[in-house]
Amino acid sequence: MLRKIKLATLRLLKTAHFFDLVADSQWRRERLLILCYHGTSLEDEHLWRPGLYMHPELLAQRLDLLKRGGYAVLPLAEGLQRLDAGTLPARSVVITFDDGTHDFHKAAYPLLKAYGFPVTVYQTTYYTDRERPIFNLICSYLLWKRRGEVIQDGRELGLAQPLDLRDEVGRHKVVQALMDLTKRESMTGQQKDELAGKLAEFLGIDYPAVVAKRILQLMNAQELREIAADGVDIQLHTHRHRTPEDEALFEREIRDNRARIREIVSSTAVHFCYPSGVYRKQFLPWLAKEQVISATTCDSGLATRVSPRLLLPRYIDNQLRKEIEFESWLVGVGDLLAFRRAATQRYVPRNVDEPA
Ligand SMILES: [Zn+2]
Repeated sequence: MLRKIKLATLRLLKTAHFFDLVADSQWRRERLLILCYHGTSLEDEHLWRPGLYMHPELLAQRLDLLKRGGYAVLPLAEGLQRLDAGTLPARSVVITFDDGTHDFHKAAYPLLKAYGFPVTVYQTTYYTDRERPIFNLICSYLLWKRRGEVIQDGRELGLAQPLDLRDEVGRHKVVQALMDLTKRESMTGQQKDELAGKLAEFLGIDYPAVVAKRILQLMNAQELREIAADGVDIQLHTHRHRTPEDEALFEREIRDNRARIREIVSSTAVHFCYPSGVYRKQFLPWLAKEQVISATTCDSGLATRVSPRLLLPRYIDNQLRKEIEFESWLVGVGDLLAFRRAATQRYVPRNVDEPA
């Protein structure tokens, strides 16, 4: 109900030309909108996690709106410099993608390229060498494929409890149990992938076919080199998609991530994005010490000159957002009306796993 009222209000404001008024205001000119995307579906991933994955057609519609609306899509570094200098053009926007999954290369980048928009990819790097699906995500996706079912006996997989796949909570419990199993048995990356394959077989799903489609895999080194050579900006997102609360481990995440990016695309990454949008106060000096000059969160907002550079807000776009909501953020009305800013972190991937 509240959402309906919100959408009706936005439509009314648009009809009354309030959108244009705000879009062309000095207030908006002093602000930078950083858009956040995650995955672009290769198949049906947006139906599995609409908060995380988007159908390429919808992404194309968004890019078209940016073009038609005369938005100035800037590279991240330039956007931040001009925000500082007070020289932003009207309707300025930056586009960022988190994680760097293979579908970015295959489905999102060709669209961005066709529109000529610059883009930053916050690349997590642990899986870039592996060409295997990210374990916890692929398990969740496979279980979703059998949604609605209840499988009584999971002993074949090493699970004590039945597999209740009727809703997200039940499926999440199974993923959790599988992850606990991998920890208990100190499984290597390969053993975990074999377990995912066993799960697929158990569910009657052709795992080699899923793997061949590269669903829920990261970009490999060759793909990263290709898009970087084409001008895509590759930045930090930790090596293992995690932010440990221990300083030395946190530092290692940044260093491993930066070294791997440097190895692959020969550039030094200095912009960071918090995995899953999780940040703590103590991370800020740690990031500064590692010469990180900006960090983005998943909290909603337009960035201003006084926004802390290591806590920059963004707007998360996904399959669930109506076009009017998306547009309200482009013009700035969304920011003016926002009553909840902190990210819920509900559909954002948890830690990418690594062998123990
Ligand atoms: Zn991420």
